[in-house]
Amino acid sequence: MTQSSFVSFDAIEATRQRIEPLIRRTPVEQSTSLSELLGVPVYLKLEHQQVTGSFKVRGATNAIACLSDAQKSAGVVGVSTGNHGRGLAYAAKAAGVRCIICMSELVPQVKVDGIKAHGAEVRIIGRSQDEAQREVDKLVVDEGMTMLPPFDHAEIIAGQGTLGLELNEQVPDMATVLVQLSGGGLISGVAAAIKAHNPDVRIIGVSMERGAAMHESLAAGRPVEVEELATLADSLGGGIGLDNRYTFAMTQTLVDEVILLTEAEIAAGIRHIYWQERQIVEGAGAVGVGAMLAGKLHEPAGPVVSLLSGGNIDMQQHKRIVDGEDVDVTGAGH
Ligand SMILES: *Cc1c(COP(=O)(O)O)cnc(C)c1O
Repeated sequence: MTQSSFVSFDAIEATRQRIEPLIRRTPVEQSTSLSELLGVPVYLKLEHQQVTGSFKVRGATNAIACLSDAQKSAGVVGVSTGNHGRGLAYAAKAAGVRCIICMSELVPQVKVDGIKAHGAEVRIIGRSQDEAQREVDKLVVDEGMTMLPPFDHAEIIAGQGTLGLELNEQVPDMATVLVQLSGGGLISGVAAAIKAHNPDVRIIGVSMERGAAMHESLAAGRPVEVEELATLADSLGGGIGLDNRYTFAMTQTLVDEVILLTEAEIAAGIRHIYWQERQIVEGAGAVGVGAMLAGKLHEPAGPVVSLLSGGNIDMQQHKRIVDGEDVDVTGAGH
């Protein structure tokens, strides 16, 4: 059994100075339409405007900065098809550290190109995420490279938490915060940063109904596996790890409620953010707004902050969604 641990406010504060020169302090804007809908001020944190298009670069930059010189010269490696891969590639390049991202043959070329564009070596191995993971394990053993995981890692959680420090300053009287929830690195860091500042702020996690691993694990009282299903919020897919060390315990302690969305509610979030807020976000980025539009946030105390966590979406898919076409990613045929 692994021992669970917490990431402290002090660790997040120390991280901020370390990564500040390499990341953006993203803006916060009040949403007129959502403030009207909820009857309290609603603010959007525009983190999809972060370098690499998501917050993942915060944690990756911190984790790389904390490596020893020997570890830096051996390089870093990870498995990712999406935002973690981009963040890691960017952060490694900025630090002059070699980076290899492993992925399976099934990953679409656009995603491979997205990661290569940030300067990483991409290694295409086998036909599953597990086979790609075995290649990572091999690189760790044979070449002494350091594996950086997407969420269950103290320095990565502390990096994501710097977003919470920014919110403490940008919306000091916030009462409710909606945060995307997948592996829980983001919400653990953000909740630790915000609750140290004001323990009364309500932190609400938002996931999709299809494959909400952390939600199922919270219900079971321990990390459990769930079937991975296709979803518009593809950046929220995947498990939390049965040997989870940090994010399960932190989420269990710091998160007040979890809301789950249907695919149609996620699409409605993307549409609203485009037509009303004039921002382009991916499915995962839209779930907080989707929750408000669906009426799933009951009489929230205001001000409310909703995080737009990422913007990496296929633009053809985005166009179909904002044009109101029925977008089926579920394979269910309706
Ligand atoms: C990774 C990611 C999330 C979820 O973060 P976790 O730390 O896994 O909970 C949310 N939104 C976007 C855009 C992401 O890339």
